[in-house]
Amino acid sequence: MAQKGKIFVVGFGPGDFKHITTRAVEALQQSDMIIGYKTYVELIQDLVSAKSIVSTGMTEEVSRAQEAVRQAEAGSIVSVISSGDAGVYGMAGLVYEVLIELGWTEATGIEVEIVPGISAINSCASLLGAPIMHDACTISLSDHLTPWNLIAKRVEAAAMADFVIALYNPKSGRRTRQIVEAQRILLEYRSPDTPVGLVKSAYRERQEVTMTTLAEMLEHDIGMLTTVIIGNSSTFFYDNKMITPRGYQRKYTLGEEKQPLRPHQRLREENEPWAMNQETGTARNDFAADPNAGRMNKPSIAATPKPKKTALEMALAALAMVKGTSAIKVTPKLVQQKIESIFELAVSPGVANKFFTPQQMMTLAEVVGEDGSMEYTPDHQIHLKVPTSAPERITEKLQEVGFLLAPIGDVLSLKACDFCYGEKADSIPYAEEIQEKLGGMSLPKTLNIGFNGCGMACYRAVFDDIGIVYRKSKFDVFIGAKPVGRTAHAAQPVVEGLEPEQLIPLITDIIEEYKANAHPNERLFKYFKRVKRILHFTYQDMSSKIKVEPAPCGD
Ligand code: SAH
Repeated sequence: MAQKGKIFVVGFGPGDFKHITTRAVEALQQSDMIIGYKTYVELIQDLVSAKSIVSTGMTEEVSRAQEAVRQAEAGSIVSVISSGDAGVYGMAGLVYEVLIELGWTEATGIEVEIVPGISAINSCASLLGAPIMHDACTISLSDHLTPWNLIAKRVEAAAMADFVIALYNPKSGRRTRQIVEAQRILLEYRSPDTPVGLVKSAYRERQEVTMTTLAEMLEHDIGMLTTVIIGNSSTFFYDNKMITPRGYQRKYTLGEEKQPLRPHQRLREENEPWAMNQETGTARNDFAADPNAGRMNKPSIAATPKPKKTALEMALAALAMVKGTSAIKVTPKLVQQKIESIFELAVSPGVANKFFTPQQMMTLAEVVGEDGSMEYTPDHQIHLKVPTSAPERITEKLQEVGFLLAPIGDVLSLKACDFCYGEKADSIPYAEEIQEKLGGMSLPKTLNIGFNGCGMACYRAVFDDIGIVYRKSKFDVFIGAKPVGRTAHAAQPVVEGLEPEQLIPLITDIIEEYKANAHPNERLFKYFKRVKRILHFTYQDMSSKIKVEPAPCGD
């Protein structure tokens, strides 16, 4: 009996040898015969030692698959090749279809191995930057085998649902209208400024990468070998790169465009209000489309049945979720409103001042409005979170009524005492100067400077990361308190009786050393304990007498 043959269906990636997988090379080298479109066969020719190569024209895919099956059944090892991935508009499906026609099963028939490859969506994305990153889809604009109406419907659905879209087969010599029509549909739902990347012949000799917009994309060359990547509503260009951010909710604070959630904050319900509740299995309705949509003939999962929403309403609700806003009105088809992000900042009446005026309270209420929140913190600040696309309007109003504004996150904050309402005012200018020079500086971890106007230190400066106490016209400096936890301890005194003019240079040096050398997330006390020395100050273990198991939050 003749030896049983085998079919490899091989995706060889975008076209250069560096981006082909080892398994694909093995398959090509083991094969007695390579079958593929002639341009592709030429591309990989140098890699193969096959005795026989069958190259066919672009449109002869069915005969290619039939030939492969015939040869394998006669005992040959055959590689059918596709560019990119053979399972993405490639030969893999066709080979199975031909086999199924002949009654093939895995148990009884010839062996089939599909070798995955890097598809154009991935290779082209890598040349553009990071445009995929979030939910994306591929749509082929070729209507040779698919009715145009179905393709148009898919383009519309993807446009509505804010997918990043990779358009394959966008245009050929004869098919020139499809891309024009696709653009028209997309513009009904997406901003004309939506970033678009055009990649022609990725990783091949005539590679071309073009960054453009949805409105202008047709002014550039698009052909058979181009993949068109359309961004979603948050995709942006930066330094000649096309980038789609990962997260839904964007936060930013003073002096920073955007501030990502830190890893430990992510899974908290208040930070991800759109996520599914793991106990009840439900998600908040104001972020969601109709929960029964797409569940044909299945029982309702909602307690009370809701009126059915149209596809457009659902898509707009989805878009609202992506944009982090509440529901969008359904009237206009063009969804183009400015993205509202959450602006976060801290306010206080002043470095030394602890009194709020009624006018300040009213201004706070006004800027926070119905949708924002304010939270009083242990650091004598009020944290504001306000959804807005115009943060400068908020900061102007707050500054007009005399608030001191500070960014939040891993930044330097100064907490001063009330200087006994001005009776011990001598050192206030130093506190204000520290605030002005260093306040809000971004650091590896939150750093609080406690500044107290007399030796009573009643605002507990020695329990802050850096403590400064004014005493007899001079300063005492403490560093490395562990301010929280059951093993909390006071800071170590490092200088007593420092001359006032030396204070700010010393504090600046400590902070610069910490900033330059600490690990991300390493608080000052941990850094001091690890390196044992900051400037010329040697670490003393202030925690050794505390005998208690450390207990992290929640335990
Ligand atoms: N199986 C292939 C796709 C074949 S369809 C894959 O997974 O990539 C052919 C389309 O793929 C082309 O019209 C083009 O849109 C895209 N394409 C394939 N190779 C490409 C490359 N090197 N650069 C850019 N686009 C490419």
